[in-house]
Amino acid sequence: MADSIEGQVRSAVDAWLRWLPRWRIGTARGRTRVCRTCFGSPVAVAAGLDHDVPHAVQHALLNRLRHIVDAEVDRYTARNLPLVDRELRRAAEGEPAGYRPEADLAPEFDGLDVDPEPDPSQPFLFTLAGLAAQEAPPADPAEGPTAEPEFSEEAKQALRRELALADEHAQSVGTALCFAVAGQRERIADALSRLVEPQVDDLLAELSRTLEQPR
Ligand SMILES: [Zn+2]
Repeated sequence: MADSIEGQVRSAVDAWLRWLPRWRIGTARGRTRVCRTCFGSPVAVAAGLDHDVPHAVQHALLNRLRHIVDAEVDRYTARNLPLVDRELRRAAEGEPAGYRPEADLAPEFDGLDVDPEPDPSQPFLFTLAGLAAQEAPPADPAEGPTAEPEFSEEAKQALRRELALADEHAQSVGTALCFAVAGQRERIADALSRLVEPQVDDLLAELSRTLEQPR
């Protein structure tokens, strides 16, 4: 598994390196919500991305890496954990169909807010999140979590054992991934110093010029 993770991590870093030259620093305000993919991520530390790297740059790589772990855990679950697999399928079937603006985004944008921060002086006519809320069919009380079948005590225990195994597997995949990412650190740092840091420096210089100008 470690070899396959290493190869996948190398490919993910390759893809990120192909994307990075297109990234341009923005002057938009930072997000107010904490990103669940990036905040406190041990992978970010392994990649050397944990300080002073713009969120969009960090997110683009960490999200690709997260997909590697998710796919690996999904494969393991489908192969070895029939009860968890069945429950996941059941949960997925219960999800309402409708407009989902966050579906099928490129890895660079997946997991980011779909709408920009609202600006009270320029109200939006609509937001993507608002459209998605309108489109979602009302929950049918006869379906969904309330209609879950009763589990016997043995079935619950078996499911708990499988969940613990899934957790253990996710941990070991995560560890293998962090080692593989640490091996890519130099390439990542090199790209940051060529493509990201100059843009950050320019923006800071520009800001200080603006602040120094007499009013
Ligand atoms: Zn993020």
